[in-house]
Amino acid sequence: MLARIDDAAALAGCSAAVAQILRVPERVVEVAVPVRLDSGEVQVFTGWRVHHNIARGPAKGGIRFHPSVDADEVKALAAEMTLKTAVVEIPFGGGKGGVCCDPAQLSEGELERLTRRYAYEIASMLGPDRDVPAPDVNTDQRVMAWVLDTVDMLHGRALPAVVTGKPLAVGGMRLHTGATSSGVVRCIRAAFSALELELPGARVVVQGFGKVGAPLAFLLSSAGMRVVAVEDVGGAVYNPGGLDVGGLADHAQRTGSVGGFEGGSPLAAGGLWSVPSEVAVPAALGGAIDAATAAILSATVVVEAANGPTTPEADVVLEQRGVTVVPDILANAGGVTASYFEWAQSRQGYPWDDDVVARRLGQSMDAAFATVWERARRLGVPMRRAAAAVAVERLALAIEARGLFP
Ligand code: GLU
Repeated sequence: MLARIDDAAALAGCSAAVAQILRVPERVVEVAVPVRLDSGEVQVFTGWRVHHNIARGPAKGGIRFHPSVDADEVKALAAEMTLKTAVVEIPFGGGKGGVCCDPAQLSEGELERLTRRYAYEIASMLGPDRDVPAPDVNTDQRVMAWVLDTVDMLHGRALPAVVTGKPLAVGGMRLHTGATSSGVVRCIRAAFSALELELPGARVVVQGFGKVGAPLAFLLSSAGMRVVAVEDVGGAVYNPGGLDVGGLADHAQRTGSVGGFEGGSPLAAGGLWSVPSEVAVPAALGGAIDAATAAILSATVVVEAANGPTTPEADVVLEQRGVTVVPDILANAGGVTASYFEWAQSRQGYPWDDDVVARRLGQSMDAAFATVWERARRLGVPMRRAAAAVAVERLALAIEARGLFP
């Protein structure tokens, strides 16, 4: 992340001060989260919330629950949010939170107690004008409702704009679920049109079949593309003619994984990337595409639905091989853009019609893609470096306009 920031600042011709400021998160809080388990025992988890930069607006970013979460990961993901909100030009900075835990091992009650205690511990950092969390890996509407309720109880008033991705019943937005996926599809369409490729019938492989991967597979097949392979933690399945995505979703719902789906043949672990395809979408965790994977990847377009799925070494290989990579801070920005719309509605106390949300989301993604594409052509660099340059340029304007306090 630090190398990305330095590179972007150099590409954008920013002052050394801007790069220095963006290299360091503004605020990092580490908290203990003691939880009484159903067994009666107490387990103490560790959580973090990071504000990376708030020059362009309140901190914005998800909360993830995962056993691999640590301070460095949360800091890097917070910086990524600063760049992402700048690429899609929404009035937010970047933040991120996480708790090191394995939610699969926790009951619903334990998860609620963990969420509420964590929210309480970081509550002084949160607020509609301060820091607005959203769902991320292993967190959802339910978790957001608990965060919202905990903050409201603490303040003794309703603050619906303190989280996004909340349930409809407490001011959420229907199109928030699926917004990341629709933004990814928008980027695939834009990339195909820029590269003069035919979309109908094009083959896609998707890694991940969760909050992003599952709706994405539906949207891609409705767009006339062939989803030929899908992998999740429990297995992978392949059908060169295109998987029946509806049947796959039913199977995954029933069994907990896409593995074993009868509408295709099983793939060995790691076999997904070499399946003949035009597009590859990593929609799971970071680090999915390393240099070895990049060398055998069949697709000519990679669209990063996950955060940080491609390692820097893999980037070098993909560039040498002429693969177009639509980077995470652009490709998955539909989620945070929808969050911005939800936040605006919560503040207005007035919901927008679905078609207004859908139209604005599409426009915003198209505009961001066009800007990054044009910058990449002009600078002669991959889209990842161009996207970061566009973001850092906008951040520099904000940082310089504000000046340095005191
Ligand atoms: N977790 C999503 C992301 O990484 C959404 C963040 C948000 O809406 O604040 O972009």
